[in-house]
Amino acid sequence: MKLMTPGPTQVRQNVMDARSRAFVNPDLDLTFYEYYRKTCERLEQALGATDHKAYILGGEGILGLEAACASLTEPGDRVLIIDNGIFGKGFADFVTLYGGEAVLFTTDYLKEVDPEELRAFLEKDSDFKYATMVHCDTPSGVLNDVETLSNICNSYGIMVVADSVSAMFGERLNLGEAHIDILCGGSQKALSAPPGLTMVWVSERAFRAMEERKSPIRSFYANLLQIKDYYENKWFPYTMPVSDIMGLGTALDNFLADPDVYDRHERVAEATRKAVTEMGLSLHLNSGMSNTVTVIDVPEGKSDREIIGAMRETYGIQIAGCFDILEGKVIRIGHMGENCNMEDVNQTLKALEEVLHQ
Ligand SMILES: *Cc1c(COP(=O)(O)O)cnc(C)c1O
Repeated sequence: MKLMTPGPTQVRQNVMDARSRAFVNPDLDLTFYEYYRKTCERLEQALGATDHKAYILGGEGILGLEAACASLTEPGDRVLIIDNGIFGKGFADFVTLYGGEAVLFTTDYLKEVDPEELRAFLEKDSDFKYATMVHCDTPSGVLNDVETLSNICNSYGIMVVADSVSAMFGERLNLGEAHIDILCGGSQKALSAPPGLTMVWVSERAFRAMEERKSPIRSFYANLLQIKDYYENKWFPYTMPVSDIMGLGTALDNFLADPDVYDRHERVAEATRKAVTEMGLSLHLNSGMSNTVTVIDVPEGKSDREIIGAMRETYGIQIAGCFDILEGKVIRIGHMGENCNMEDVNQTLKALEEVLHQ
């Protein structure tokens, strides 16, 4: 089955091979601490981080979002939820779960958040400990300018948690220019390793806020302070999934060896959107489309399940539908990471065209 979903994406053979190599005991063997630290430092460099430390956590992308909210939220804290999509809104659940007061700033779900609207909102109310935002909200594929939005929040003294799970490594993001306190990523999107790992980039300011809490962090597994000083202490809070991390390290090698990666995402996404429109289909968004995923409205009188099923059965290509408020309404083609090549995308588009004709 050719995976053309917006995560998990295709995985290159050298990543699979890395995951099947012999491994050391990650708690006891000091060479693993060196390997882990070096991989995290490369993650920092890959996104231009200047005052962030990166960590790889054993758990799928959602763990990073929950760990950020668990570690920062104290009972009664007001948190601004920047909401123009399903993942955007979903942050409110984590904030509430850890006792925070989630205040929604909801904007048009069919376009990117307008920085001036955010500024106008904050002019009236800026009493927030932190704000949450999503880089690419994958269900609709909307791409928010998190660098600009985070700098606006920072100018009001508000910390920022940003979910870039389905954008990073496919869409440019410079952590040195942004004021993001905790950035969340996952292994199975544009980095193209299998699912199972979260990456987080944590600023010094975020760690200070955790250390200055009045009440303890109400989690162990999702407590970022537990892993903060793993290298100095030669101690991890749980046994690290060493094979998964070796695979991620190789996926990162692949990314770093590819100088064309961001431009290719632009070209492939542009070509996909053009082809889809020429087929007579309509793109779901009005503007702000991410170069990592294309989201298409299900045509009148057709069903997402039938389209996706025929793509699978006749062509061996897996594309995605959606969930929550977009269930049954859109189909999605993921062209990020290893999926981002014209050969696979052309095959997918050709199959889609034939399926729709039938
Ligand atoms: C994939 C993804 C996550 C991780 O969660 P899943 O369990 O894979 O859905 C988080 N945020 C975004 C925006 C994602 O696309």
